[in-house]
Amino acid sequence: MLDGAACSRCGDALDALGVSGISSLCRACRLAPPPFGRAVAYGLYEGRMRDAIHAFKYSRLHPAARELGKMLAAAMAQLAGEAPAEMLVVPVPLHRSKHAQRGFNQARSLAQEALRELRGTHPQWRLTLASSTLMRLRATESQAGLTPRQRRLNVRGAFSVSDPGAVTLKHILLVDDILTTGATARAAAGTLIRAGAASVWVATLARARRASAASPVHFHTQQDEEIDNRPEASAAPEMESFASPEGPRPF
Ligand SMILES: [Zn+2]
Repeated sequence: MLDGAACSRCGDALDALGVSGISSLCRACRLAPPPFGRAVAYGLYEGRMRDAIHAFKYSRLHPAARELGKMLAAAMAQLAGEAPAEMLVVPVPLHRSKHAQRGFNQARSLAQEALRELRGTHPQWRLTLASSTLMRLRATESQAGLTPRQRRLNVRGAFSVSDPGAVTLKHILLVDDILTTGATARAAAGTLIRAGAASVWVATLARARRASAASPVHFHTQQDEEIDNRPEASAAPEMESFASPEGPRPF
């Protein structure tokens, strides 16, 4: 599980305000609260976790699905008691071109395994898989090399809800393998809320996190097209319209 000072909303590293105990939110969540209630993850996207996710996604190593599914279940279980007792579990969809290329949606496979696990550990929690609820309209480009504004635009309008009636007043648990900048989770959650969802929560296997809010970010992303390199700045990519020049802050 993750430890250290993390944002109570999105799990990202806290800045100085957070570390000093003044705020439990990271700067991005203070400036623009995300459209989801809380995002949880099992661990950081590094080391063996990164290797396991890569093996699963790119080698279709299905024996790993069971173990990774249990880890996703453990992440989801962090929300038990806080999130609603009845939810639709919505895997972040792939665009059909990527689905055809990869052959499967890893988020859906992981969600299936996690639900199987949670039926045993949390039998009261009424979680229903809803794989076709959210659609990816565009094959979003790799975020690597994009400016913050380009990143936000890259995922804007990327999602659509197939049947808004199916999500109206429903509580949604959005699941994916990796949470990087949160831009995708914000876009998907925003789409679901606009379609009438009552609330959206997010659970992922792993999140890429800044080692320190104060230090530049270096992600080693290799061929993983889902993962993007953050700019070497502390503002989240979707935040640029709020981001002030680095310097004295009003706190
Ligand atoms: Zn946050």
